[in-house]
Amino acid sequence: MTSTVRTRIAPSPTGFLHLGTARTALYSWAFARHHGGQFVLRIEDTDVARSTQDSVDQILASMQWLGLDCDEGPIYQMQRLDRYRAVVDQMLAAGTAYRCYCTPQELDAMKAAQEARGEKRRYDGTWRPEPGKVLPPIPAGVEPVIRFCNPTDGDVTWNDLVKGPITIGNREIDDLIILRADGVPTYNFAVVVDDWDMRITHVFRGDEHVNNTPWQINIFNALGAPLPLFGHVPVILGDDGQKLSKRRGAVSVTAYEEAGYLPEAMLNYLARLGWSHGDDELFTREQLVSWFDGSHLSKSPAQWDAAKLSWVNAHYVKTVDEARLATLVAQQFVRRGIAPPMDEVARRVALFKDRCATTVELADWLMPYFADVQPSPDDLATHVTEAVKPALQTLRDKLAGIEWNKAAINAAIKETIAAHGLKMPQLAHAVRVLVCGRAQTPSIDAVLELFPRETVRARLQGA
Ligand code: GLU
Repeated sequence: MTSTVRTRIAPSPTGFLHLGTARTALYSWAFARHHGGQFVLRIEDTDVARSTQDSVDQILASMQWLGLDCDEGPIYQMQRLDRYRAVVDQMLAAGTAYRCYCTPQELDAMKAAQEARGEKRRYDGTWRPEPGKVLPPIPAGVEPVIRFCNPTDGDVTWNDLVKGPITIGNREIDDLIILRADGVPTYNFAVVVDDWDMRITHVFRGDEHVNNTPWQINIFNALGAPLPLFGHVPVILGDDGQKLSKRRGAVSVTAYEEAGYLPEAMLNYLARLGWSHGDDELFTREQLVSWFDGSHLSKSPAQWDAAKLSWVNAHYVKTVDEARLATLVAQQFVRRGIAPPMDEVARRVALFKDRCATTVELADWLMPYFADVQPSPDDLATHVTEAVKPALQTLRDKLAGIEWNKAAINAAIKETIAAHGLKMPQLAHAVRVLVCGRAQTPSIDAVLELFPRETVRARLQGA
């Protein structure tokens, strides 16, 4: 690369950070980092009615959670209105843009007439200046919008970084509005001025924007601005093959954080969803950066696979530093209104982490250590039977006098089953139900060792 690579992500703050946008941000970030370039965050807040500060905060928090650090920004489009106005003035002077005084009623009538004729809806050029054309008289009291003078013939072609060569004829597109009557720019115009001013070299974005790109390229050309390269990333489909949407389950990054996914797992899973590096399924942030050169992005839509994400997350739950895992589990406890000391959480995660896909599951396993348990009537009836109850009391008595460690607990359990003629599972299941509130746990001696002796004895007393 000759010039410094500069990429950006440009979310609209009209909601949380969508998984699709997060993935595009991830690709843009990784590409910039791979090339030693810069990554810019721009907030596209020109939809004033729907943009909120709360959305901005959520987007920033999600980006931070995923570790997508930006070198510049957030830059807010609504703070750049003067700049857009200045560029519009240049374009008006150069004849590449013009004022249009059509009223909404006239535009509606235009649309209805086109539909009646079976034509595609497009602006009919009423106010477009042409050599020798006499424009209508300027109506009183109508604030004009500014339209771009789109070329009327020829094609727009670009070599898409993801999809390969794409050509769209100028006849397919019309003179779009670039500045609304209230002075707020439209997306296709602001995006060009910004990508130009911010010296963006590579634009990765969702492929719902493919049809906008010819307009943007024409505006770049009208401004004499250098073109970035464009890469349009296919959509993410839900498990049901439909576009991933809110109605079909969690689509916000925040929801996955709350559900106990680790940022490194989300990063890994999202990166792999629509991109590949050989057969590698599990990779670190550093590997992603060293591998991600913009190639091997999939041309076809990616399929969201909750089971695979769970598998990836389970890998990270097993392998991340235990102190960090404990911090994440402690955060889950805070969400439940419980605040156990960190070291109390930390000394218990190792025993349970291998059976957990999320930190929520891990917190579930650790709950009996920090809150009362309520065994289900079914479990009590099945496991805490009259045949076992005397043995539970024997065990309770034995536990009072032993050293409190796994080996001694194990010996006490073995002596108890021998004395009562029981099988190990009979006693162990009953103890689990009473002490942990569930019949299945890791090895019972290891589980009990992590409780205070008196908690175990008090719960056995309840039998
Ligand atoms: N604000 C646009 C969006 O969120 C940005 C598209 C682009 O990256 O150009 O879809």
